[in-house]
Amino acid sequence: ALENLHRIDTVVLDKTGTLTAGKPAVTDMIPNGISEVQLMKIAASLEKQSEHPFAKAILTKAGKLKLLEVTEFETVPGRGVSGIVNGVRYFGGNEKLMREKDICVPHYEELAKQGKTLLYFAAENGNYLGAIAAADVLKFDSVTAVETMKKLHLDVVMLTGDNEDVARAIGAQAGITHVISDVLPGDKAGAVAKLQKEGRSVLMVGDGINDAPALVTADVGMAIGAGTDIAMESAQVVLM
Ligand code: ADP
Ligand code: MG
Repeated sequence: ALENLHRIDTVVLDKTGTLTAGKPAVTDMIPNGISEVQLMKIAASLEKQSEHPFAKAILTKAGKLKLLEVTEFETVPGRGVSGIVNGVRYFGGNEKLMREKDICVPHYEELAKQGKTLLYFAAENGNYLGAIAAADVLKFDSVTAVETMKKLHLDVVMLTGDNEDVARAIGAQAGITHVISDVLPGDKAGAVAKLQKEGRSVLMVGDGINDAPALVTADVGMAIGAGTDIAMESAQVVLM
């Protein structure tokens, strides 16, 4: 791994938990025809069973709010969650998930361009309950790290499952213009392979379950020590 590292010309950085702290917080509540508390109640109840950092952000914001019982909970990888409350199926997740369920939702471009991720909540019958925006912050040393890589003439790429507006906003904060967004968990390795086919020697840096295949595919895989066990098992280098 150390010998291969000096041949690297491209560094692919995962966004959430690698460039950013990975601890997003709720910034805006945009209920649609209901109160903020009602929106939060459904959202937090659905997200209670999810492991995703966005789910944690919503539960933190919900605080001691009394939650509803959710049955038939499901995770929709790269998209969001779903579950049944009082006999009605609800969905929570990104625009892609809403589109797939034929639920019409606003775009909120302004918020997305500030780097805020929008999580939409709706009932299966198309009743749109509203959106919750959450924002993550860069790690304090991400900007310096990216600058240093550029000085070493490395091409720096950011890879994320988040949407393009948010990815570009966070990329701009970190000094990265080469951004690959809307990548499903199963496609991260493919994105790395595509860069390799262009003749690049790729270092992948990540922390999540969804980064593991990409860490194995890259010429060198590097895991964040505070990340998931599977990322550390898959990588050749673990940053302490
Ligand atoms: P990333 O780690 O880069 O955010 P993921 O594949 O985990 O990528 O998620 C992609 C997108 O799917 C997220 O940006 C979010 O919009 C949506 N999503 C995933 N999990 C949840 C969840 N539990 N609740 C709401 N939205 C979610
Ligand atoms: Mg991550």
